[in-house]
Amino acid sequence: MAKVLIIGAGGVGNVVAHKCAQLPKVFTDIVLASRTESKCRDIAKNVKAATKRVIKTDRVDADNVKEVIALIKKHKPELVLNIALPYQDLPIMDACLAMGVDYLDTANYEPPTKAKFEYKWQWAYQSKYKSKGIMALLGSGFDPGVTNVFCAYALKHYFDEINYVDILDCNAGDHGHAFATNFNPEINIREITQKGKYWENGKWIEIPPMSVNFHFDYPEIGPKNSFLLYHEELESLAKNLPGLKRIRFWMTFGENYLTHLRVMQNIGITRIDPVEFEGKKIVPIQFLKALLPDPGSLGKNYKGKTNIGCLIKGKKNGVSKVWYIYNVCDHAECYKETKAQAISYTTGVPAMIGAKMILENKWRGKGVFNMEQFDPDPFMDDLNKYGLPWKAVEIKNYNKIMPL
Ligand code: NDP
Repeated sequence: MAKVLIIGAGGVGNVVAHKCAQLPKVFTDIVLASRTESKCRDIAKNVKAATKRVIKTDRVDADNVKEVIALIKKHKPELVLNIALPYQDLPIMDACLAMGVDYLDTANYEPPTKAKFEYKWQWAYQSKYKSKGIMALLGSGFDPGVTNVFCAYALKHYFDEINYVDILDCNAGDHGHAFATNFNPEINIREITQKGKYWENGKWIEIPPMSVNFHFDYPEIGPKNSFLLYHEELESLAKNLPGLKRIRFWMTFGENYLTHLRVMQNIGITRIDPVEFEGKKIVPIQFLKALLPDPGSLGKNYKGKTNIGCLIKGKKNGVSKVWYIYNVCDHAECYKETKAQAISYTTGVPAMIGAKMILENKWRGKGVFNMEQFDPDPFMDDLNKYGLPWKAVEIKNYNKIMPL
């Protein structure tokens, strides 16, 4: 059906390449390009061993619009999947715009010099993409991504209006390292050291980092301490869910992780501003990334499961209802299939499905879109088919399980 260009050969790029290769009728040609081509070649080798498909590889510095344009001219894809870092979102969007090619990513833009992610930079492309007749699908990972689609599905099938959403992200896995992040360390640490923020009655409320927490009893996992964080899907869902009164995001962290984080912050190694070191400027968090385990290498010994879901309260026929829609994913199962851990897997599968939605014209439009703006049904069907089966349970004891 179509040729796609995947940019980024990290933990998530590996899963996207595997999952696209598993569907030869949809993804007839696949090119994987990244800053370090040898990483693309390693992934291509694994994909060939797993699926017998040959994928092409190339090199690109995606911070450079001209290089991305040249890459698109060379390979002529119908869709570019940006699986590099959020810093590359705008240059890749610019290149797609120049070449009239559809665009997809999994994380919203943030400027390298400020730990602040926001949709305003990418939403600003709305009229340019519209007049060019192309589309951008933003945030097609798990959270953002699947969590947005869970909300859209709940609104379509379980509620007349949604009033309260709590997105709950639990990783109860153990990778055997004293400290490691499950996706790019720089992006991950910038995200969780920011102030917490949630949306209530039309206003954003900020709280000190990691200052609000409670134990949520995650199905198939058990109770885990969950901390209120700001996460990017809150911004688009607050805008796109009619009737919403409050939306928050929670993530689990163990004591060991939090202690390491506190020490790293205290000694300054999570700083994002350049410092002088032996006559050279280095950015401490980038140096830290070089020391930490590569998230793509964590899969081998990872045990345990993730549970990510949306706890949603609203009304149906005037009656108050609560549903929890969630997916449970097993690290070891993911490794067996793609040599990746569950965080890369739960991001890479929805990126493939988002691409499939666009190429099959199930999700189609002109402009810039978030996931909840399309019909959730075909996407939810594909989650069940391609590795991320979900469950929806009606909750009767809401006040007990959500005390805050
Ligand atoms: P990794 O750090 O493992 O991989 C990033 C890849 O991008 C690397 O191969 C890197 O190349 C490449 N890259 C970086 N800069 C450039 C550049 N200038 N030009 C070309 N390639 C570049 O990250 P992950 O795979 O863990 O994460 C990928 C993305 O997925 C991130 O944006 C992350 O925020 C997002 N994500 C989204 C989630 C969701 O649920 N929505 C969850 C988890 C992650 P090199 O190897 O040479 O450094």
